[in-house]
Amino acid sequence: MLDLSQVALLGLDRTELKSLVESTGEPAYRAKQLLEAIYRQRVESVEQISTLSQDLRGRLAAKGVTVGAPRIEKRFVSQDGTVRYLIACVDGQSVETVWMPEGDGGEAGDGSEAGELAERFEERLSLRTSGIKPRSQQEPIAALKRDAGQRQGQRQRLNQRPQGQNQGRSTICISSQVGCAVDCQFCLTALLGVKRNLTAGEIVGQVCAVLKEQKVSPPENRINLVFMGMGEPFLNYENFVKAARLLVEEVGIAERRMTVSTAGIVPRIHDFAKEKIRPKLAISLNAPNDELRTRIMPLNKKWNLEMLMAAARAYPLRTREWITFEYVLLGGVNDAPENAKEVSELLRGMRCKVNLIALNPGPGVEFTTPGMERVTEFQAILREAGIPAFVRRPRGRDIYAACGQLKRTVEIATAQER
Ligand code: SAH
Repeated sequence: MLDLSQVALLGLDRTELKSLVESTGEPAYRAKQLLEAIYRQRVESVEQISTLSQDLRGRLAAKGVTVGAPRIEKRFVSQDGTVRYLIACVDGQSVETVWMPEGDGGEAGDGSEAGELAERFEERLSLRTSGIKPRSQQEPIAALKRDAGQRQGQRQRLNQRPQGQNQGRSTICISSQVGCAVDCQFCLTALLGVKRNLTAGEIVGQVCAVLKEQKVSPPENRINLVFMGMGEPFLNYENFVKAARLLVEEVGIAERRMTVSTAGIVPRIHDFAKEKIRPKLAISLNAPNDELRTRIMPLNKKWNLEMLMAAARAYPLRTREWITFEYVLLGGVNDAPENAKEVSELLRGMRCKVNLIALNPGPGVEFTTPGMERVTEFQAILREAGIPAFVRRPRGRDIYAACGQLKRTVEIATAQER
C-alpha cells in the first residue's frame, strides 16, 4: 500500500492516479473522476470532490491525501487590465503568475499581433488543404511581413474596443521556479536567486488558480499560455515537461497556444526537440554577438551563440511553426542599428520571427529603456532583411507585472491591490 500521507493530487497524471486509487482498493474509474475534479472542476480540497462518496473522501483525507492547490495570496491590477497574482505554495514559498486579458503583443498563439497572424495563416492553409480557394496564395512568412505593416492601425483600433470583444487574446504567464539562477543582468527575478524548482503540480496549479479566478475554461474560452514568468523552465525540465503534458491532456489548453521561453540551456533544447507534447519554442537571444551576450547574460560563457544557434537550426519545426527569438532592447547597449544588422545575419535563412521588448525597468537594474524611435528603427532593419519582427507591448508595468519584473514585489502598487 502506498504511503498517501505526502500525496498531493495536483500534478499526478492518469497512470499515477490509477495506481493511487487501486492502492486504496477502489476501482480504476475513480482515477477519471479525480482527473476531472482536479483539472477541470479545479477543486481545492478532497472534500470538494463531489463525485466521490463521502466515505471515500473521508478516507482519503484521513490518510493525508491533499489536492495541493496553490493559493492566490495577493492580486495587483494594472491600469491596462493585467493582473499580477502572488501565489503561495503549500510550503509558504510564493511565485508570480500574470493574467493578460489582451495578450502582450508577443507569442504566436497568444492572440496578439504575431499570434493572430499565425492563426490566420493556419486558417488559410487549412482552407487550402480542404480544397477551398484561399484568399491569398502567398507563403506564410512573406504574407506575415506584408500583413504586419497593416496591423499597426488595426491593433490600435482593437485596443479601443470595449472589453469582451478581445476574447481569444487572453494569456496566462506562469512561473517554473521560485526565483531564477540564470542571472541575466537586466532581469529583476535574477536578483532573487533561485530558491527551488516548482513541482509539476505547482506549475499546473497556477493555471488552475487563475482560470478559476477569472471564471474561464478552455476550450470554451481560448486561453494562451506562456512559460515566461519567474525561473528558467529548462532548468526544471522534467517538471516543466510533465506540467505541459497535463495542461494539454487534462486542463485542455491547446498545445499550439503554449510557448516556452528559454534563456538558452542548449542541451535541453536538443531534448525538447524530441518531446511528444511540446509547446512552441522561444529563445531569449538578447544580443547579436558573444561579447555583448556574455556581458548581459553570463550563461553565454557556458553555451555560446554558436552552440545556441546550432541547436536552434537543428530544431525540428512542425508544419506552420517557427522559432521565436526574444530580444530585450537595452538603451545604448544592444539597440544600435549595427546590432540589428548583426541579428539579421545571425538569423538569416531561419524559419523564425523576432519579438522585440524594450526594457521594463526596475530597481536594481542598471540599464535604460530605449526610446520608441530606436525600437522602431531596429524593427525596420530586421524587416528589411526579411525577418518578421514585432514589438511587444509592455503589459502591467505599473504593477511590476511586465517581462523581467517578477520579483514578488509587494511594497509597490498597494493602491491597485484588490
Ligand atoms: N527564463 C526564461 C523565461 C523567463 S524571462 C527566459 O529567459 O527566456 C521571459 C522574457 O523576458 C525573456 O525573453 C527575457 O529576456 C525577458 N526579460 C527579462 N527581463 C526583462 C526586462 N527587464 N525587460 C524586458 N524583458 C525582460
